[in-house]
Amino acid sequence: MADPILPPGLNVADFEDALQAFRRIVGRDHVYTGDELSSYVDPYSIAEDPNAHATPAAVAPQSAEEVQAILRAANQHHVPLWPISCGKNHGYGGAAPRMAGTVVLDLNRMNRVLEVNVESGYALVEPGVSYFDLYRHLQEKGLKLWLDVPDAGWGSVVGNALERGVGYTPYGDHFMMQCGMEVVLPSGDIVRTGMGAMPGNNTWQLFKYGYGPYLDGMFSQSNFGVVTKMGVWLMPEPPGYRPYMITFEREEDIEQVVEVLRPLKVNSVIQNAATIRSLVLVACINATKSQYHTGPGPLPDSAAKKLMADQDIGMWNFYGALYGPPPIMDTLWTIIRDSFSTIPGARFFTPEERKRDNDVLKHRALTMRGVPRLTEYSLVNWVGGGGHIGFSPVSPIKGAEALKQYRMVRDRLHEHGFDYMSVFAIGWRELHHVIELVFDRTNPDEARRAREVFAIMVREAAEAGYGEYRTHISFMDQIAKTFSWNNGAQLKLHELLKDALDPNGVLAPGKQGIWPSRYRSR
Ligand code: ADP
Repeated sequence: MADPILPPGLNVADFEDALQAFRRIVGRDHVYTGDELSSYVDPYSIAEDPNAHATPAAVAPQSAEEVQAILRAANQHHVPLWPISCGKNHGYGGAAPRMAGTVVLDLNRMNRVLEVNVESGYALVEPGVSYFDLYRHLQEKGLKLWLDVPDAGWGSVVGNALERGVGYTPYGDHFMMQCGMEVVLPSGDIVRTGMGAMPGNNTWQLFKYGYGPYLDGMFSQSNFGVVTKMGVWLMPEPPGYRPYMITFEREEDIEQVVEVLRPLKVNSVIQNAATIRSLVLVACINATKSQYHTGPGPLPDSAAKKLMADQDIGMWNFYGALYGPPPIMDTLWTIIRDSFSTIPGARFFTPEERKRDNDVLKHRALTMRGVPRLTEYSLVNWVGGGGHIGFSPVSPIKGAEALKQYRMVRDRLHEHGFDYMSVFAIGWRELHHVIELVFDRTNPDEARRAREVFAIMVREAAEAGYGEYRTHISFMDQIAKTFSWNNGAQLKLHELLKDALDPNGVLAPGKQGIWPSRYRSR
Protein backbone atom coordinates (compact mmCIF):
# COMPACT_ATOMS: atom_id res chain seq x y z
CA MET A 1 0.00 0.00 0.00
CA ALA A 2 1.27 3.50 -0.91
CA ASP A 3 2.49 5.78 1.87
CA PRO A 4 -0.31 8.03 3.16
CA ILE A 5 -0.30 11.71 2.22
CA LEU A 6 0.52 13.43 5.50
CA PRO A 7 -0.67 16.88 6.62
CA PRO A 8 1.57 19.56 5.10
CA GLY A 9 4.66 20.18 7.21
CA LEU A 10 4.39 17.00 9.31
CA ASN A 11 6.74 14.01 9.15
CA VAL A 12 5.82 10.41 9.94
CA ALA A 13 6.83 10.68 13.60
CA ASP A 14 4.90 13.95 14.13
CA PHE A 15 1.84 12.42 12.57
CA GLU A 16 2.08 9.27 14.67
CA ASP A 17 2.24 11.45 17.80
CA ALA A 18 -0.96 13.17 16.68
CA LEU A 19 -2.69 9.84 16.07
CA GLN A 20 -1.67 8.67 19.54
CA ALA A 21 -3.21 11.81 20.99
CA PHE A 22 -6.45 11.11 19.09
CA ARG A 23 -6.41 7.46 20.27
CA ARG A 24 -6.14 8.60 23.87
CA ILE A 25 -9.32 10.66 23.34
CA VAL A 26 -11.58 8.27 21.39
CA GLY A 27 -9.93 4.87 21.98
CA ARG A 28 -7.81 2.82 19.56
CA ASP A 29 -10.83 1.42 17.73
CA HIS A 30 -12.05 4.79 16.57
CA VAL A 31 -8.94 6.10 14.83
CA TYR A 32 -8.77 4.67 11.33
CA THR A 33 -5.82 4.38 8.95
CA GLY A 34 -4.72 2.39 5.89
CA ASP A 35 -7.34 -0.06 4.58
CA GLU A 36 -9.93 1.27 7.04
CA LEU A 37 -10.14 4.50 5.03
CA SER A 38 -12.02 3.16 2.01
CA SER A 39 -15.22 5.08 2.81
CA TYR A 40 -13.41 8.41 3.31
CA VAL A 41 -13.03 9.16 -0.39
CA ASP A 42 -14.74 11.15 -3.09
CA PRO A 43 -16.61 8.28 -4.77
CA TYR A 44 -16.99 10.22 -8.02
CA SER A 45 -13.69 12.02 -8.25
CA ILE A 46 -12.86 13.89 -11.44
CA ALA A 47 -9.64 15.36 -10.07
CA GLU A 48 -6.60 15.01 -12.31
CA ASP A 49 -4.40 14.07 -9.36
CA PRO A 50 -5.75 10.85 -7.78
CA ASN A 51 -4.43 12.07 -4.41
CA ALA A 52 -5.94 15.55 -4.62
CA HIS A 53 -8.40 14.81 -1.79
CA ALA A 54 -6.62 11.93 -0.01
CA THR A 55 -6.86 11.55 3.76
CA PRO A 56 -4.23 9.81 5.90
CA ALA A 57 -6.58 8.97 8.82
CA ALA A 58 -10.02 9.42 10.30
CA VAL A 59 -11.06 9.94 13.91
CA ALA A 60 -14.57 9.26 15.19
CA PRO A 61 -15.63 10.87 18.49
CA GLN A 62 -18.78 10.01 20.39
CA SER A 63 -19.46 13.26 22.23
CA ALA A 64 -19.04 17.01 22.00
CA GLU A 65 -16.41 16.76 24.78
CA GLU A 66 -14.39 14.39 22.60
CA VAL A 67 -14.73 16.79 19.65
CA GLN A 68 -13.37 19.57 21.87
CA ALA A 69 -10.42 17.43 22.95
CA ILE A 70 -9.68 16.45 19.33
CA LEU A 71 -9.61 20.10 18.23
CA ARG A 72 -7.26 20.98 21.08
CA ALA A 73 -4.95 18.12 20.11
CA ALA A 74 -5.16 19.16 16.44
CA ASN A 75 -3.97 22.66 17.40
CA GLN A 76 -1.12 21.22 19.41
CA HIS A 77 0.01 18.86 16.63
CA HIS A 78 -0.85 21.11 13.64
CA VAL A 79 -3.17 18.51 12.15
CA PRO A 80 -5.98 19.78 9.87
CA LEU A 81 -9.41 18.14 10.33
CA TRP A 82 -12.37 17.82 7.92
CA PRO A 83 -15.70 17.28 9.72
CA ILE A 84 -18.33 15.03 8.16
CA SER A 85 -21.67 14.07 9.65
CA CYS A 86 -22.86 11.04 7.64
CA GLY A 87 -20.39 11.71 4.81
CA LYS A 88 -22.93 11.15 2.02
CA ASN A 89 -22.35 14.44 0.26
CA HIS A 90 -21.94 12.47 -2.97
CA GLY A 91 -21.80 14.56 -6.09
CA TYR A 92 -20.02 17.28 -4.11
CA GLY A 93 -17.02 15.27 -2.86
CA GLY A 94 -18.47 12.60 -0.52
CA ALA A 95 -16.52 12.20 2.71
CA ALA A 96 -13.22 13.39 1.25
CA PRO A 97 -11.48 16.58 2.44
CA ARG A 98 -10.69 19.59 0.25
CA MET A 99 -6.94 19.49 1.03
CA ALA A 100 -4.87 16.31 0.70
CA GLY A 101 -3.42 15.26 4.05
CA THR A 102 -6.44 16.47 6.07
CA VAL A 103 -7.72 14.00 8.69
CA VAL A 104 -11.45 13.26 8.53
CA LEU A 105 -13.37 14.06 11.72
CA ASP A 106 -16.17 11.53 11.40
CA LEU A 107 -19.24 12.42 13.52
CA ASN A 108 -21.28 9.34 12.52
CA ARG A 109 -21.09 7.89 16.04
CA MET A 110 -22.80 10.98 17.48
CA ASN A 111 -26.19 9.77 16.35
CA ARG A 112 -28.70 10.49 19.09
CA VAL A 113 -32.11 12.03 18.53
CA LEU A 114 -32.04 14.16 21.68
CA GLU A 115 -35.59 15.50 21.62
CA VAL A 116 -38.73 15.54 19.49
CA ASN A 117 -41.48 17.99 20.36
CA VAL A 118 -44.71 17.17 18.54
CA GLU A 119 -46.70 20.09 19.89
CA SER A 120 -44.26 22.70 18.62
CA GLY A 121 -42.92 20.67 15.68
CA TYR A 122 -39.18 20.32 16.13
CA ALA A 123 -36.36 17.89 16.84
CA LEU A 124 -32.91 18.34 18.36
CA VAL A 125 -30.38 15.98 16.82
CA GLU A 126 -26.71 15.11 16.72
CA PRO A 127 -24.80 15.20 13.42
CA GLY A 128 -24.69 11.42 12.86
CA VAL A 129 -28.52 11.19 12.67
CA SER A 130 -29.48 10.34 9.08
CA TYR A 131 -32.87 11.00 7.50
CA PHE A 132 -33.54 7.26 7.71
CA ASP A 133 -32.72 7.34 11.47
CA LEU A 134 -34.99 10.28 12.24
CA TYR A 135 -37.80 8.87 10.10
CA ARG A 136 -37.56 5.51 11.90
CA HIS A 137 -37.59 7.29 15.26
CA LEU A 138 -40.80 9.18 14.38
CA GLN A 139 -42.46 6.03 13.01
CA GLU A 140 -41.53 3.81 15.95
CA LYS A 141 -42.84 6.33 18.43
CA GLY A 142 -45.93 7.12 16.33
CA LEU A 143 -45.16 10.85 16.28
CA LYS A 144 -47.28 12.80 13.80
CA LEU A 145 -44.51 14.88 12.30
CA TRP A 146 -43.10 14.80 8.75
CA LEU A 147 -39.48 15.16 7.75
CA ASP A 148 -38.28 17.06 4.74
CA VAL A 149 -35.82 14.85 2.86
CA PRO A 150 -33.43 15.35 -0.06
CA ASP A 151 -33.48 12.79 -2.90
CA ALA A 152 -31.21 10.35 -1.06
CA GLY A 153 -32.22 9.55 2.55
CA TRP A 154 -28.87 8.22 3.78
CA GLY A 155 -27.39 11.69 4.41
CA SER A 156 -27.26 13.59 7.69
CA VAL A 157 -30.03 15.95 8.79
CA VAL A 158 -27.34 18.28 10.18
CA GLY A 159 -24.83 17.87 7.31
CA ASN A 160 -27.44 18.58 4.65
CA ALA A 161 -28.77 21.67 6.42
CA LEU A 162 -25.21 22.96 6.91
CA GLU A 163 -24.55 22.56 3.19
CA ARG A 164 -27.86 24.39 2.60
CA GLY A 165 -29.37 21.40 0.81
CA VAL A 166 -33.00 21.27 -0.32
CA GLY A 167 -35.96 18.93 -0.04
CA TYR A 168 -39.46 18.89 -1.48
CA THR A 169 -42.16 19.52 1.15
CA PRO A 170 -43.16 23.05 2.23
CA TYR A 171 -40.10 22.82 4.55
CA GLY A 172 -37.75 22.32 1.58
CA ASP A 173 -35.18 25.00 2.50
CA HIS A 174 -33.20 23.05 5.08
CA PHE A 175 -31.10 25.85 6.47
CA MET A 176 -34.16 28.06 6.88
CA MET A 177 -35.75 25.29 8.97
CA GLN A 178 -32.82 24.85 11.37
CA CYS A 179 -33.14 26.52 14.77
CA GLY A 180 -30.38 26.71 17.37
CA MET A 181 -26.95 25.06 17.28
CA GLU A 182 -24.24 23.82 19.55
CA VAL A 183 -20.83 24.41 17.97
CA VAL A 184 -17.26 23.49 18.90
CA LEU A 185 -14.95 26.25 17.69
CA PRO A 186 -11.53 25.52 16.17
CA SER A 187 -9.94 26.36 19.54
CA GLY A 188 -11.95 23.58 21.21
CA ASP A 189 -14.27 26.03 23.01
CA ILE A 190 -17.97 25.30 22.80
CA VAL A 191 -20.90 27.71 22.20
CA ARG A 192 -24.66 27.52 21.85
CA THR A 193 -26.26 29.93 19.41
CA GLY A 194 -29.54 31.88 19.55
CA MET A 195 -31.61 31.35 22.68
CA GLY A 196 -29.28 28.48 23.65
CA ALA A 197 -26.81 31.11 24.86
CA MET A 198 -29.06 31.80 27.87
CA PRO A 199 -28.84 29.23 30.67
CA GLY A 200 -32.21 27.63 31.37
CA ASN A 201 -33.89 29.19 28.34
CA ASN A 202 -36.77 27.18 26.88
CA THR A 203 -36.96 28.54 23.32
CA TRP A 204 -33.62 27.31 21.85
CA GLN A 205 -35.44 25.33 19.11
CA LEU A 206 -38.33 27.84 18.79
CA PHE A 207 -36.75 31.24 18.14
CA LYS A 208 -33.85 31.40 15.73
CA TYR A 209 -32.29 34.76 16.40
CA GLY A 210 -31.54 35.09 20.12
CA TYR A 211 -29.89 38.33 21.14
CA GLY A 212 -27.17 40.19 19.24
CA PRO A 213 -25.68 39.26 15.86
CA TYR A 214 -27.22 36.12 14.38
CA LEU A 215 -24.38 33.60 14.11
CA ASP A 216 -25.86 30.35 12.79
CA GLY A 217 -25.30 31.26 9.14
CA MET A 218 -21.61 31.59 9.86
CA PHE A 219 -21.38 27.87 10.50
CA SER A 220 -23.05 26.79 7.25
CA GLN A 221 -20.84 25.97 4.23
CA SER A 222 -18.05 27.05 6.51
CA ASN A 223 -14.88 26.08 8.33
CA PHE A 224 -15.51 28.19 11.45
CA GLY A 225 -16.82 25.45 13.75
CA VAL A 226 -17.98 21.85 14.19
CA VAL A 227 -21.73 21.62 14.78
CA THR A 228 -22.44 19.03 17.48
CA LYS A 229 -26.20 19.63 17.98
CA MET A 230 -28.82 21.28 15.81
CA GLY A 231 -32.53 22.00 16.09
CA VAL A 232 -34.71 21.32 13.04
CA TRP A 233 -38.34 22.30 12.52
CA LEU A 234 -40.63 19.47 11.44
CA MET A 235 -43.98 19.80 9.68
CA PRO A 236 -47.11 18.58 11.49
CA GLU A 237 -48.75 15.78 9.52
CA PRO A 238 -51.38 17.61 7.42
CA PRO A 239 -55.03 16.49 7.24
CA GLY A 240 -54.72 15.85 3.51
CA TYR A 241 -52.03 15.31 0.89
CA ARG A 242 -52.27 15.14 -2.93
CA PRO A 243 -49.14 14.77 -5.04
CA TYR A 244 -49.36 15.46 -8.76
CA MET A 245 -47.29 15.65 -11.94
CA ILE A 246 -47.66 17.90 -14.99
CA THR A 247 -45.80 17.10 -18.21
CA PHE A 248 -44.76 19.53 -20.93
CA GLU A 249 -43.79 18.47 -24.44
CA ARG A 250 -41.28 20.92 -25.83
CA GLU A 251 -37.84 22.11 -24.72
CA GLU A 252 -38.80 25.76 -25.03
CA ASP A 253 -41.82 25.23 -22.74
CA ILE A 254 -39.47 25.77 -19.78
CA GLU A 255 -39.86 29.51 -20.36
CA GLN A 256 -43.63 29.53 -19.97
CA VAL A 257 -43.60 26.91 -17.19
CA VAL A 258 -41.38 29.15 -15.08
CA GLU A 259 -43.46 32.26 -15.87
CA VAL A 260 -46.62 30.45 -14.73
CA LEU A 261 -44.83 29.10 -11.68
CA ARG A 262 -43.50 32.38 -10.27
CA PRO A 263 -46.75 34.04 -9.14
CA LEU A 264 -48.08 30.70 -7.90
CA LYS A 265 -45.03 30.20 -5.70
CA VAL A 266 -44.53 33.78 -4.57
CA ASN A 267 -48.21 33.84 -3.47
CA SER A 268 -47.95 30.41 -1.77
CA VAL A 269 -50.51 28.77 -4.07
CA ILE A 270 -47.78 26.21 -4.67
CA GLN A 271 -47.02 25.22 -1.11
CA ASN A 272 -44.01 22.98 -1.46
CA ALA A 273 -40.50 23.10 -2.86
CA ALA A 274 -41.75 21.77 -6.18
CA THR A 275 -39.44 20.72 -9.02
CA ILE A 276 -39.26 20.77 -12.80
CA ARG A 277 -37.31 17.70 -13.91
CA SER A 278 -35.73 17.21 -17.31
CA LEU A 279 -36.57 14.28 -19.56
CA VAL A 280 -33.44 12.20 -18.99
CA LEU A 281 -33.37 12.80 -15.22
CA VAL A 282 -36.86 11.29 -14.98
CA ALA A 283 -36.35 8.58 -17.59
CA CYS A 284 -33.10 7.24 -16.15
CA ILE A 285 -34.93 5.66 -13.22
CA ASN A 286 -36.44 3.15 -15.64
CA ALA A 287 -33.98 3.04 -18.54
CA THR A 288 -30.30 3.14 -19.37
CA LYS A 289 -28.75 5.16 -22.14
CA SER A 290 -27.51 2.09 -24.03
CA GLN A 291 -31.13 0.98 -24.61
CA TYR A 292 -31.65 4.10 -26.69
CA HIS A 293 -28.27 5.15 -28.00
CA THR A 294 -25.03 3.19 -28.25
CA GLY A 295 -22.80 5.61 -30.16
CA PRO A 296 -20.73 8.42 -28.67
CA GLY A 297 -22.21 11.77 -27.71
CA PRO A 298 -25.53 12.83 -26.19
CA LEU A 299 -28.89 11.21 -26.80
CA PRO A 300 -30.12 12.17 -30.31
CA ASP A 301 -33.50 13.93 -30.62
CA SER A 302 -35.14 10.87 -32.17
CA ALA A 303 -34.12 8.74 -29.17
CA ALA A 304 -35.36 11.43 -26.78
CA LYS A 305 -38.77 11.36 -28.49
CA LYS A 306 -38.92 7.57 -28.19
CA LEU A 307 -37.99 7.77 -24.50
CA MET A 308 -40.79 10.29 -23.91
CA ALA A 309 -43.31 8.05 -25.65
CA ASP A 310 -42.15 4.81 -24.00
CA GLN A 311 -42.40 6.27 -20.50
CA ASP A 312 -45.29 8.66 -21.17
CA ILE A 313 -43.33 11.60 -19.78
CA GLY A 314 -42.54 15.11 -20.93
CA MET A 315 -39.47 17.01 -22.02
CA TRP A 316 -40.10 18.79 -18.70
CA ASN A 317 -41.95 17.17 -15.78
CA PHE A 318 -43.33 19.25 -12.92
CA TYR A 319 -43.78 17.49 -9.56
CA GLY A 320 -45.77 19.27 -6.85
CA ALA A 321 -48.12 18.45 -4.00
CA LEU A 322 -51.08 19.91 -2.15
CA TYR A 323 -51.27 19.82 1.66
CA GLY A 324 -54.13 20.62 4.04
CA PRO A 325 -57.87 20.14 4.50
CA PRO A 326 -59.64 18.94 1.29
CA PRO A 327 -61.51 22.21 0.56
CA ILE A 328 -58.21 24.11 0.62
CA MET A 329 -56.52 21.55 -1.63
CA ASP A 330 -59.51 21.67 -4.03
CA THR A 331 -59.25 25.43 -4.34
CA LEU A 332 -55.47 25.48 -4.80
CA TRP A 333 -55.67 22.71 -7.38
CA THR A 334 -58.22 24.63 -9.46
CA ILE A 335 -55.89 27.62 -9.61
CA ILE A 336 -52.80 25.51 -10.38
CA ARG A 337 -54.56 23.47 -13.05
CA ASP A 338 -56.05 26.51 -14.76
CA SER A 339 -52.72 28.31 -14.73
CA PHE A 340 -50.65 25.49 -16.26
CA SER A 341 -53.43 24.61 -18.74
CA THR A 342 -52.49 27.76 -20.64
CA ILE A 343 -49.37 25.92 -21.85
CA PRO A 344 -50.25 23.91 -25.00
CA GLY A 345 -49.82 20.16 -24.50
CA ALA A 346 -49.70 20.27 -20.65
CA ARG A 347 -50.95 16.99 -19.15
CA PHE A 348 -51.92 16.43 -15.50
CA PHE A 349 -51.51 13.21 -13.50
CA THR A 350 -52.13 11.79 -10.04
CA PRO A 351 -50.06 8.77 -8.88
CA GLU A 352 -53.09 6.51 -9.48
CA GLU A 353 -53.18 7.59 -13.11
CA ARG A 354 -49.59 6.48 -13.69
CA LYS A 355 -49.81 2.81 -14.60
CA ARG A 356 -46.16 1.71 -14.64
CA ASP A 357 -44.92 -0.01 -11.46
CA ASN A 358 -41.78 2.03 -11.08
CA ASP A 359 -43.23 5.34 -12.21
CA VAL A 360 -41.31 8.33 -10.90
CA LEU A 361 -44.45 10.07 -9.57
CA LYS A 362 -45.00 7.11 -7.25
CA HIS A 363 -41.53 7.67 -5.81
CA ARG A 364 -41.90 11.42 -5.65
CA ALA A 365 -45.26 11.02 -3.93
CA LEU A 366 -43.27 9.55 -1.02
CA THR A 367 -40.41 12.06 -1.21
CA MET A 368 -42.80 15.04 -1.21
CA ARG A 369 -44.25 13.74 2.07
CA GLY A 370 -40.83 13.29 3.64
CA VAL A 371 -40.30 9.53 3.37
CA PRO A 372 -36.54 9.03 2.95
CA ARG A 373 -35.51 6.87 -0.03
CA LEU A 374 -32.66 5.95 -2.32
CA THR A 375 -34.59 4.94 -5.47
CA GLU A 376 -33.84 7.97 -7.57
CA TYR A 377 -30.15 7.63 -6.83
CA SER A 378 -30.20 5.10 -9.67
CA LEU A 379 -29.58 8.13 -11.91
CA VAL A 380 -25.90 7.16 -11.71
CA ASN A 381 -26.72 4.05 -13.80
CA TRP A 382 -27.76 6.07 -16.87
CA VAL A 383 -24.32 5.44 -18.33
CA GLY A 384 -22.10 2.52 -17.26
CA GLY A 385 -19.55 3.01 -14.46
CA GLY A 386 -21.87 5.60 -13.00
CA GLY A 387 -20.42 8.69 -11.41
CA HIS A 388 -22.06 12.08 -10.95
CA ILE A 389 -21.17 15.56 -9.84
CA GLY A 390 -23.53 18.45 -9.28
CA PHE A 391 -23.30 21.82 -11.02
CA SER A 392 -25.77 24.10 -9.26
CA PRO A 393 -26.25 27.68 -10.47
CA VAL A 394 -29.08 29.79 -9.05
CA SER A 395 -31.54 31.55 -11.35
CA PRO A 396 -34.31 34.10 -10.84
CA ILE A 397 -37.80 32.59 -11.25
CA LYS A 398 -38.05 34.09 -14.72
CA GLY A 399 -38.83 32.17 -17.88
CA ALA A 400 -36.26 33.91 -20.07
CA GLU A 401 -33.48 33.31 -17.51
CA ALA A 402 -34.37 29.64 -17.05
CA LEU A 403 -34.39 29.13 -20.82
CA LYS A 404 -31.06 30.93 -21.17
CA GLN A 405 -29.44 28.84 -18.42
CA TYR A 406 -30.89 25.66 -19.85
CA ARG A 407 -29.55 26.36 -23.36
CA MET A 408 -26.15 27.42 -22.07
CA VAL A 409 -25.65 24.31 -19.98
CA ARG A 410 -27.21 21.91 -22.51
CA ASP A 411 -24.96 23.15 -25.31
CA ARG A 412 -21.81 22.84 -23.26
CA LEU A 413 -22.72 19.36 -22.02
CA HIS A 414 -23.62 18.19 -25.52
CA GLU A 415 -20.37 19.57 -26.95
CA HIS A 416 -18.51 17.49 -24.39
CA GLY A 417 -20.54 14.36 -25.08
CA PHE A 418 -22.81 14.39 -22.00
CA ASP A 419 -26.58 14.37 -21.63
CA TYR A 420 -28.46 17.22 -19.99
CA MET A 421 -29.99 15.91 -16.74
CA SER A 422 -31.32 18.53 -14.39
CA VAL A 423 -33.86 19.68 -11.88
CA PHE A 424 -35.09 23.22 -11.36
CA ALA A 425 -36.05 23.26 -7.66
CA ILE A 426 -38.16 26.22 -6.64
CA GLY A 427 -37.17 28.21 -3.57
CA TRP A 428 -38.95 31.19 -2.04
CA ARG A 429 -37.65 33.66 -4.64
CA GLU A 430 -35.25 31.75 -6.90
CA LEU A 431 -34.64 28.51 -8.75
CA HIS A 432 -31.83 26.12 -7.87
CA HIS A 433 -30.87 24.73 -11.29
CA VAL A 434 -29.13 21.51 -10.24
CA ILE A 435 -27.45 19.78 -13.16
CA GLU A 436 -26.30 16.20 -12.65
CA LEU A 437 -23.24 15.59 -14.75
CA VAL A 438 -23.40 11.80 -15.04
CA PHE A 439 -20.25 10.15 -16.37
CA ASP A 440 -18.40 6.85 -16.53
CA ARG A 441 -15.89 7.05 -13.72
CA THR A 442 -13.98 4.04 -15.05
CA ASN A 443 -13.14 5.98 -18.22
CA PRO A 444 -10.34 8.57 -17.71
CA ASP A 445 -11.36 10.42 -20.85
CA GLU A 446 -14.90 10.95 -19.51
CA ALA A 447 -13.49 12.24 -16.21
CA ARG A 448 -11.25 14.65 -18.15
CA ARG A 449 -14.16 15.92 -20.23
CA ALA A 450 -16.30 16.29 -17.09
CA ARG A 451 -13.56 18.35 -15.47
CA GLU A 452 -13.21 20.54 -18.53
CA VAL A 453 -16.89 21.20 -19.08
CA PHE A 454 -17.46 21.90 -15.39
CA ALA A 455 -14.78 24.61 -15.36
CA ILE A 456 -16.22 26.16 -18.53
CA MET A 457 -19.77 26.13 -17.13
CA VAL A 458 -18.68 27.85 -13.91
CA ARG A 459 -16.93 30.58 -15.88
CA GLU A 460 -19.70 31.14 -18.39
CA ALA A 461 -22.37 31.11 -15.71
CA ALA A 462 -20.46 33.77 -13.75
CA GLU A 463 -20.03 35.90 -16.88
CA ALA A 464 -23.81 35.78 -17.33
CA GLY A 465 -24.35 36.72 -13.65
CA TYR A 466 -25.19 33.28 -12.26
CA GLY A 467 -23.52 31.95 -9.10
CA GLU A 468 -23.52 28.44 -7.61
CA TYR A 469 -25.37 27.70 -4.37
CA ARG A 470 -23.00 24.89 -3.39
CA THR A 471 -20.16 23.02 -5.01
CA HIS A 472 -17.85 20.06 -5.27
CA ILE A 473 -14.56 20.10 -3.32
CA SER A 474 -12.53 20.25 -6.56
CA PHE A 475 -14.15 23.56 -7.60
CA MET A 476 -14.38 25.46 -4.32
CA ASP A 477 -11.62 27.93 -5.16
CA GLN A 478 -12.85 28.62 -8.67
CA ILE A 479 -16.35 29.37 -7.45
CA ALA A 480 -15.19 31.45 -4.46
CA LYS A 481 -13.39 33.67 -6.97
CA THR A 482 -16.59 34.34 -8.91
CA PHE A 483 -17.99 36.07 -5.78
CA SER A 484 -15.53 38.89 -6.38
CA TRP A 485 -17.50 42.11 -5.84
CA ASN A 486 -15.33 45.01 -4.59
CA ASN A 487 -12.06 43.25 -5.11
CA GLY A 488 -13.17 40.07 -3.34
CA ALA A 489 -14.35 41.88 -0.20
CA GLN A 490 -16.49 38.96 0.99
CA LEU A 491 -13.71 36.39 0.72
CA LYS A 492 -11.39 38.79 2.56
CA LEU A 493 -13.92 39.03 5.38
CA HIS A 494 -14.20 35.23 5.45
CA GLU A 495 -10.41 35.03 5.75
CA LEU A 496 -10.35 37.64 8.51
CA LEU A 497 -12.86 35.60 10.50
CA LYS A 498 -11.00 32.40 9.72
CA ASP A 499 -7.71 33.74 11.04
CA ALA A 500 -9.34 35.12 14.20
CA LEU A 501 -11.18 31.89 14.98
CA ASP A 502 -8.62 29.40 13.72
CA PRO A 503 -5.09 30.88 13.89
CA ASN A 504 -3.47 27.46 13.42
CA GLY A 505 -5.71 26.61 10.48
CA VAL A 506 -6.88 23.26 11.85
CA LEU A 507 -10.47 23.21 10.63
CA ALA A 508 -11.30 22.25 7.03
CA PRO A 509 -8.65 24.27 5.17
CA GLY A 510 -9.95 25.37 1.77
CA LYS A 511 -13.62 24.69 2.50
CA GLN A 512 -15.63 26.96 0.18
CA GLY A 513 -12.33 28.56 -0.92
CA ILE A 514 -11.56 29.85 2.59
CA TRP A 515 -7.93 29.09 3.43
CA PRO A 516 -6.37 29.80 6.81
CA SER A 517 -3.21 31.94 6.73
CA ARG A 518 -1.06 28.85 7.33
CA TYR A 519 -1.90 27.47 3.87
CA ARG A 520 -3.03 30.61 2.02
CA SER A 521 0.14 31.16 0.05
CA ARG A 522 0.39 27.51 -1.09
P1 ADP B 1 -24.50 14.39 4.26
O1 ADP B 1 -24.14 13.06 4.86
O2 ADP B 1 -25.78 14.97 4.76
O3 ADP B 1 -24.45 14.40 2.76
P2 ADP B 1 -21.89 15.25 5.06
O4 ADP B 1 -21.73 14.63 6.37
O5 ADP B 1 -21.23 14.58 3.89
O6 ADP B 1 -23.43 15.46 4.73
O7 ADP B 1 -21.43 16.76 5.17
C1 ADP B 1 -21.36 17.61 4.07
C2 ADP B 1 -20.34 18.70 4.34
O8 ADP B 1 -20.83 19.57 5.35
C3 ADP B 1 -19.02 18.18 4.86
O9 ADP B 1 -18.14 17.89 3.82
C4 ADP B 1 -18.53 19.33 5.72
O10 ADP B 1 -17.85 20.28 4.92
C5 ADP B 1 -19.80 19.94 6.25
N1 ADP B 1 -20.18 19.41 7.59
C6 ADP B 1 -20.84 18.24 7.80
N2 ADP B 1 -21.08 18.06 9.08
C7 ADP B 1 -20.59 19.13 9.73
C8 ADP B 1 -20.58 19.52 11.10
N3 ADP B 1 -21.17 18.77 12.02
N4 ADP B 1 -19.99 20.70 11.41
C9 ADP B 1 -19.45 21.48 10.45
N5 ADP B 1 -19.44 21.16 9.14
C10 ADP B 1 -20.00 20.00 8.78
